[in-house]
Amino acid sequence: MNTLTIQLEDALYRCNKCGFCQATCPYYLTTGEEWAVARGRLRLTRAILQGKLPLSDGAVRSMYQCFSCRACNVTCPSGVPVDEILIQARTELARQGYLPEPLAQMGRTIATTGNLTGEAADARRSWWQNLDWAPPQGGKHETVYFVGCVSSFYPQAYGLPQSMAWLMERAGTDYAVLGRDEVCCGYPLYVAGLEAEARALAQANVRTVREAGARRVMTTCPSCYRAWREFYPHLLGEELGVEVVHSTQWLAEAGLPLRPLEGKVTYHDPCDLGRGSGIYDPPREFLKSNGLHLVEMSNTRAEALCCGGGGNMESLDLAAGHAVAQLRMQQASATGAEWVVTACPQCKRTLSSVRSDIPLRVVDIVELARKLAVTD
Ligand code: SF4
Ligand code: SF4
Repeated sequence: MNTLTIQLEDALYRCNKCGFCQATCPYYLTTGEEWAVARGRLRLTRAILQGKLPLSDGAVRSMYQCFSCRACNVTCPSGVPVDEILIQARTELARQGYLPEPLAQMGRTIATTGNLTGEAADARRSWWQNLDWAPPQGGKHETVYFVGCVSSFYPQAYGLPQSMAWLMERAGTDYAVLGRDEVCCGYPLYVAGLEAEARALAQANVRTVREAGARRVMTTCPSCYRAWREFYPHLLGEELGVEVVHSTQWLAEAGLPLRPLEGKVTYHDPCDLGRGSGIYDPPREFLKSNGLHLVEMSNTRAEALCCGGGGNMESLDLAAGHAVAQLRMQQASATGAEWVVTACPQCKRTLSSVRSDIPLRVVDIVELARKLAVTD
């Protein structure tokens, strides 16, 4: 690896090694590995760029074993864009053939099937197969609901699209889903440094949405939201001409009447929604305006801890993800809440996987809205 853009190389040298990023890095907090802290990763990047460190397996691993949570970005007093530096370093490593095999396999799977799990495109309809109604597909609609791979292929997350589609039906929204014509948003490939592959997916999805004549893309996945809103214009070099909306923004404005919920709830900020996109208030406004007693965790909003399912860590280091999820659930438990509300299918999957005798239920905000909706 010998190149970074001049702008990012300059930023790399702004790190003054103060170590503020140590206190917020989920990988460091659960492993104690000093190299995992942003200042360690940046120092390694510098050494590689200067030719002082050969590209060993360990050095390459340090560029990829990261939750892409951006906690270091917001903590850094020098404003070092750690995420951008690491993505560009990974892009160069991938170009030179150093991509770790689990990520290379993921890239081949998505390129072949258009999704993360390698299932047939028709399996994108699985989440509504056991319902007595189906969401609209095809034709011209104002809104396209972009469901995303996690909610389409992992049964633990089916409740999100089931609830979101139900809520939009109830609100009279003119929407459709893309079904088998949707492909992966490309986020996992983009953060892995597979830029050309991510661009091809962006082109395919944008073409499909334009053919549907939609003026709005609705998401329940914060990574899809960020891909559409931030990465697609960058990858395609053009404004998309569609409004991109996350379910939390839609819920805050929809004004759906809800029944009150007894007890306390706490809210887990998904990394790509909070730090990644600056959406902190709409989910909280929605919860509070419906009379829910919201209590905050010790790490909240910009300082929220990752759920453990960020980046491509599920493919690279599942044990590290579990340790982070455990820590996050302990923080949630300490609030005394009975529900952990989040707004992301991956956060829901990851936090729900923590085995505990704590009576704490994890729910996505659209599932909660559906559960509490007044139905007559
Ligand atoms: S907080 Fe920023 S400047 Fe300080 S060590 Fe971390 S990356 Fe470097
Ligand atoms: S993005 Fe998150 S996991 Fe990666 S170095 Fe920064 S704080 Fe640590």
